Amino acid sequence: MSFVLPPVKPVSLAVAGTSDRFPVRRVYCVGRNYVEHAKEMGFSGREAPFFFLKPADAVVPCAVGESVTINYPSLSKDFHHEVELVVAIGAAGKNIAATDAAKHIFGYAVGLDMTRRDLQGEAKKLGRPWEVGKVVDQSAPIGPITPIAQSGELKAGTISLTVNGAMRQSSDIDKLIWNVNEVIEHLSAAWELQPGDLIMTGTPEGVAAVVRGDVMAASCVGVAPITVNVA
Ligand code: MN
Repeated sequence: MSFVLPPVKPVSLAVAGTSDRFPVRRVYCVGRNYVEHAKEMGFSGREAPFFFLKPADAVVPCAVGESVTINYPSLSKDFHHEVELVVAIGAAGKNIAATDAAKHIFGYAVGLDMTRRDLQGEAKKLGRPWEVGKVVDQSAPIGPITPIAQSGELKAGTISLTVNGAMRQSSDIDKLIWNVNEVIEHLSAAWELQPGDLIMTGTPEGVAAVVRGDVMAASCVGVAPITVNVA
C-alpha cells in the first residue's frame, strides 16, 4: 500500500523538561469563560459552557526560550489575541464527572486563540458558524506541556499577555466561570475525549488587535511562557 499523496505529519507539542512530544488530536475551545471577557463581548452571567474546535494543524508549537512567528491572516483587519490556559488530555473518557476529571489530564500549557474578530462578529450577526473567525491558519500557538505530575492541578494563579512589552491581558485562572474540571465534565458529555485532545479554556478580558511586527508574550502559572511574533 502506498499513499497517493504524502500523508500529513502529526502535529505535536513539546513536553517540558523532556525530549518527548505530545501528539495533538483535536483542539476544543471554550467560549466566553471569564466574566469580564463575557462582559466586554456584550454578555453577562453564567451561561452553560459552549464549545468550538480548531483543527490540529492550526497549532503552532512553541519551544522554551524561542519565539515563533505567525503570519497576519488574510481577509481580516481586526486580528485579536486571546491568551488561554490549555489542558492536554492523556486518558480517554466520556461523561467524566468533574471530581474525576484530573485523572484524564496529562498536563497544561499556555496558548493563544488568535481570532479574526471582524469575521467572527459578522458570522455571529448573521447566525453563521464561527469557523471563518476561529479556524485560521497558525491561529493556535501553544507552548510546551507541563505534566500534571509536576505542576499538580492548576486552579489559581496569574495568566497574562503582553504586546511589545505592554500589558494587555492579566487575570487569574481562578476567575474561570467554568473551571477546568467542570469544562471536562461538560465537554465529555458531548464528545468522548481521547488522548491527544487539547482544551483551550477561554480568555480573560483585554482582548485586542495585533498588527504586523507585534511581539506577544504569554504566560500562565505553572507552565512555560511563550513568545509569538506577528509577520
Ligand atoms: Mn478563546
